[in-house]
Amino acid sequence: AKDRGRARYVVFDGALRGALELRQQVEADLRRGIDRGELRLLYQPVVDVQSGEMTGVEALVRWQHPTRGLLAPDEFIPVAEDTGLVVPVGSWVLHEACRQLQDWQRKSDLALTVAVNVSARQLSDSRFPEAVGDILQATGADPAALCLELTETALLDATDATTATLQALRRLGVRLALDDFGTGFSSLTFLKRFPIDVVKVDRSFVRDIAVDPDDAAIVAAVINLGRSLNLETVAEGVETPEQLRCIRRLGCHLAQGYLFSPPRPPEDIPALLNALEPA
Ligand code: C2E
Ligand code: CA
Ligand code: CA
Ligand code: CA
Repeated sequence: AKDRGRARYVVFDGALRGALELRQQVEADLRRGIDRGELRLLYQPVVDVQSGEMTGVEALVRWQHPTRGLLAPDEFIPVAEDTGLVVPVGSWVLHEACRQLQDWQRKSDLALTVAVNVSARQLSDSRFPEAVGDILQATGADPAALCLELTETALLDATDATTATLQALRRLGVRLALDDFGTGFSSLTFLKRFPIDVVKVDRSFVRDIAVDPDDAAIVAAVINLGRSLNLETVAEGVETPEQLRCIRRLGCHLAQGYLFSPPRPPEDIPALLNALEPA
């Protein structure tokens, strides 16, 4: 029995070491990637449901890896979260998105809003609002055009300090969105507790909205709740005209999804103004 126990321990240790080495390798690789400027931002249009006009974009990070190709966030954000590298990644994303926002405004007179995803790690640093303020000042971007997207998981172990951080961000003039709304356990508590401006209805509810009455009822409730709390509502993952018809009928303000456009490189964005109305 003793031997078996030891053998099992050895196997477990080997597997653990393998996972650890892989993680350390990705970590070192990502650290180098950040320094070498391998991160990119794609922008997905956010569209007014009634008029079909693009009112803003969401910035979505990619890693242009020298050998592995273009990597989606799923392939490196979890490691970045675990290792704390999501903080430098997040700073870069925020700076680049604000620089781009100001560039569109200046060169093309494009009045767009830009949404940026913020992770729990960034939010838990009490100096985060100051860093955001510095970036806004350095880039000259309009704070009112910046929306920070927070997930329920990012707010899950929120303390009074988190509330203070969110209020400080609000004082800068930036807006706050609750992302993936409805997927967590305490969505309603968060709306009550935190100064939120926008709710984004998660893609998982939008997917079957045209065929599943339960999902349609959930989305209707979220949109009504948002409207009565004076929040802006955004439907995520709109892929079909039927889904668009449903959310339009329910009074949702904004939508994003493949029906309008996938995430695109920044140079594609100006031409999409007034060009996005789906067939
Ligand atoms: P998210 O914030 O919920 O972003 C929306 C995701 O849905 C994006 O995936 C987008 O490409 C995808 N999407 C958009 N429209 C559709 C559609 O019609 N159908 C389907 N099936 N998918 C659609 P992406 O770019 O792979 O990003 C995945 C997640 O990674 C994001 O989910 C966000 O949580 C995270 N992420 C992205 N960029 C950043 C970042 O800069 N910082 C942090 N911390 N997280 C990020
Ligand atoms: Ca988001
Ligand atoms: Ca989302
Ligand atoms: Ca999501």
